[in-house]
Amino acid sequence: MRKLDTRTIVVASHNKGKIAEIADLIGPLGFSAKSAAELNFEEPAETGTTFEENAAIKALASAKASGMPALSDDSGLVIDALDGAPGVYTADWAETGNGTRDFAMAMQKVENALQERGATAPEQRTGRFVSVLCLAWPDGHTEFFRGEVEGTIVWPPRGTSGFGYDPIFQPEGYATSFGEMTSDEKHGWRQGDATALSHRARAFKTFVETCLEA
Ligand code: IMP
Repeated sequence: MRKLDTRTIVVASHNKGKIAEIADLIGPLGFSAKSAAELNFEEPAETGTTFEENAAIKALASAKASGMPALSDDSGLVIDALDGAPGVYTADWAETGNGTRDFAMAMQKVENALQERGATAPEQRTGRFVSVLCLAWPDGHTEFFRGEVEGTIVWPPRGTSGFGYDPIFQPEGYATSFGEMTSDEKHGWRQGDATALSHRARAFKTFVETCLEA
């Protein structure tokens, strides 16, 4: 496992919601980070069929373009009753066809697909958010960190916090959706308690434990 010996990195993302969450997570560790969007890097095509492949495509593109280590996140919603869909195509389900993304429409697509399968009871609507972080160096070396959080797809959407599919995902053991949580609640940070809740915070915790701490 290669350790990260700099605190200057690129956040290999063009997604505002993700950039904000990663900034929240790395900020307290004293990182100075610029995003691929701020650096005007081209957004690479996500042609992989796994979260790991797509995370590597994004992190390597930013590491090579900047000459600095780059951290990417590839994530998505995996729903059991839909045989794992939308999975790596979670962002694609929100495409409107004119270059914009509409998550109200994407959440409705998820609900329609669940209804078509007769998945109306909570126990038929289980799934998980997955986040795979890739840390890539300009020489092509990569390290991966995966985080998952189990939950249930709720309908109608609840709450306006967060981004993407947050309003329809209720993590196991909680009565509120991610859309109804503050960012601290979604990450799972509690005073004096190092647990993590969201898929991204869980992946990030592994990154910190394995790549930053001696
Ligand atoms: P990608 O990783 O850029 O391919 O896209 C991931 C997709 O999953 C995006 O459409 C996000 O909206 C969705 N997603 C990933 N993480 C979260 C999250 O924490 N909350 C809500 N939606 C998410």
